[in-house]
Formats: sequence, C-alpha cells, structure tokens
Amino acid sequence: MGQGLKNRGYTREDVDERRKAVEDFSSARLGSVAGYTVDPEGAKSNIENMIGCTQIPLGYVGPVKVNGEYAEGEFLVPMATTEGALIASVNRGCSLINSGGGANVRVIGDNMTRAPVFRVDGVAHALDVIDWIGENIESLKDAAESTTRRGKLLGIEAFPNGRNLFLRFSYHTADAMGMNMCTIATEAASRVIEENTGAVMISVSGNMCTDKKPAAMNMISGRGKTVIADCIIPNAEIEDRTKASVDAIVETNYRKNLVGSAMAGSLGQNAHVANMLAAMFIATGQDPAQVVEGSMTSTLCENADGDLYISVRIPALEVGSVGGGTKLPTQGEALDIMDCRGEGKALKLAEIMAVAVLAGELSTLGAQSAGHLGKAHAELGR
Ligand code: NAP
Repeated sequence: MGQGLKNRGYTREDVDERRKAVEDFSSARLGSVAGYTVDPEGAKSNIENMIGCTQIPLGYVGPVKVNGEYAEGEFLVPMATTEGALIASVNRGCSLINSGGGANVRVIGDNMTRAPVFRVDGVAHALDVIDWIGENIESLKDAAESTTRRGKLLGIEAFPNGRNLFLRFSYHTADAMGMNMCTIATEAASRVIEENTGAVMISVSGNMCTDKKPAAMNMISGRGKTVIADCIIPNAEIEDRTKASVDAIVETNYRKNLVGSAMAGSLGQNAHVANMLAAMFIATGQDPAQVVEGSMTSTLCENADGDLYISVRIPALEVGSVGGGTKLPTQGEALDIMDCRGEGKALKLAEIMAVAVLAGELSTLGAQSAGHLGKAHAELGR
C-alpha cells in the first residue's frame, strides 16, 4: 500500500476496496466502520480516501425558549458527543432558561475573513500597495465576487510589517460558513493586486485571518457570526434546581471565569463553551476545528435584584446552514430538528447555538457553585 490515494473512486465498491487494503495493512477489523448511510459520491467534497464512517452518539437538549431576531420559539438542539453528563447538564440549563422566560439573543456581526500575506520591497512599497488597493477597491470587489454568486467583499484591512503586507479580506457569505468561498475569492483578488503592484502573495492565508487558531484578532474584531445572548433566572429556580445561591454562582463566575482565565492567559473567559460547540458542530456538519474560535467566549454573571443575570458573548461563531458538512445525511437531519437546513437559516442557527451555549454555561456554573460537578460525572459519565 503506497502513500498516495489507494484509488480515487467514490463508489461503495471503491470504499470497500480501500477499507480492505487498510485491514490488510493494519490487521485491524473494520466491520463497524463499514456500516454507514452516507453516499460516498455525495461526500466527494468532504473527504478523500474514504473507508467508511465514524459514528458518534447523537442526543438532544431542550426544548429551550429562544427570543431571537431569526429564531423565535421553542427548539430542540441536537448534540453529538461521547462525554457523559454533557447533555444532561445542558438540558438542565435549558429548563432554567425557560423558567426565566427564555434567552434573548442577537447576531451583532457577520463576516468571514481570509488574510493573505504578501512580500513587498519595504515600508514605502507597502504603503504604495495600500494606496493602490484603496483607489481600486471596486475592481478588487469585482474580481473577488466573480468567483461566487452569494459572497460579497465587505472590505480589506491592511497590516504592513517590514517586508510583509497582510491584507485581511472580510466577506458576507450568506448562509455558508464561507471559508472555501472566501479563499477562492481572495485568491482571485490577490492576483489582481500582484499584477498591478508588484507585491507577491506568499500564502493566501497569512494567519491573520485567523482560522482554527486562538487569536485576539478574532476575539476583538469577530469572525463568522458574533452573537450575544442573556437571560435572567429567578432566584427560587436557581436555589431549587442547582442547590446553589445566586451569589455563589456570581462569585464562581468571577473567580473562575474572569480571574482564573486572566491568570491563565486564556483568550476566552468561560466554563466550557467548547463542549457545547463541539457537540453541536459535529451534529450539524460544521467544521469542528473552528470550535477554537468559538471557545474565546466571555461569560458574565451578576446578581440582578436577587435573581441571576447571565450572558455570553461569542465573538467568532463560524457556522453555516449550507455547504461543507451540512449536506451530509445525518447532519442535514440534525439541522432539520431546528428547521435550520439550507437557504436563509444561518443566522437562526447561530442564535439557537448561542442559547445552547448559554444553557451549558449556566448549568456548569451552578454545578460547580454547589460542588456537584464531580458527582454528576461520576454518576453519568463513568
Ligand atoms: P462550500 O460548500 O465550499 O461552499 C458553499 C457553496 O454553497 C458555494 O458553492 C455557494 O455558491 C453555495 N450556496 C448555495 N446556496 C447558498 C446560500 N444560500 N448561501 C451561501 N452559499 C450558498 O462551503 P464554505 O462555507 O465556503 O466552506 C466550508 C468548507 O470549507 C467546510 O467543508 C470547511 O471544512 C472548509 N474549510 C476550508 C478552508 C479553506 O481554506 N479552503 C478552511 C477552513 C475550512 P456561491 O459561492 O456561488 O454563492
């Protein structure tokens, strides 16, 4: 078995042939991997060297009441995970949110970014290139948008540094998460910049995008959807359901999420936002590596006249209701549970996900404030 692709076909027979080759090479038996419903042809743009499918248990939380601009009403939220206690915990958070009348949620930013790095001659050349871009932004928009029907170039931010010029392109990507869309569009516009300025594009991603790496850039400027959500939970419900007091939760959030995160140099200030995002991303066909960006969420708690005020600010929620893994069968069905598959549903999806994140934060803070976290994991996760 060589290191190249075993064969490039996408029929079930091709998949079987490759799996057999892996079995022969490794002596592993792959009977479970062989049981799947994905049509390999339909997964062509999602994977190479397909040998079967990995299954991850799928559950749900909710219903949770969402008071959003795009999502209004009660929703069940699908989550795929192997972490026992996660769904039980988020589910408790959902019912606490319901007891407060639901969560308010808004998408306050919506742009996907790609930032190529160019080699320039020096400071003077870098500034000439930036001037040229300013004067020719319309032709750059035309070049970028010639590659996509729905993608729109919103702007280009320039960051010169010595003989490097970073250009951060921002796009509106409609209902797609948009990373392929932006990369293709940025390459087209970058070619125009190269031809007219002498700047040389070294990489279409110069890491100021910033994709799949934690970066203050995304936390401050946003990437994908920037979403804020909050709710007020009555004191009696907090005490009854979590066995913790409002003040204990506020103090835990302060000492753990704010002081502890600052002490650790964390870019996010939250309890476990990556947990909810990973489970929802896997369930709904989002790119799980982009949980990194979502993990930079800030969670805040205050005593509001005796009740608990809790909020999350997710600066970079990179999700779509079309494209990528959303078109695979189980992922599409999971989106259907929230009526979030396809055209016009990306912002609704972002709002529902943000409320599920809020529910997870609320429940875990309650459990830690009451000293119950270890107990729940011992009972449900082992
Ligand atoms: P995509 O599946 O590559 O593209 C989305 C497609 O959907 C486009 O062809 C778009 O057509 C079409 N489309 C149809 N209806 C649409 C609607 N209502 N709104 C928006 N688009 C619509 O998905 P993507 O979101 O651009 O990229 C996601 C994929 O990129 C994931 O698989 C992810 O893993 C991968 N990824 C790539 C990179 C990279 O650097 N290339 C980095 C990270 C992740 P038009 O463009 O003609 O509008």
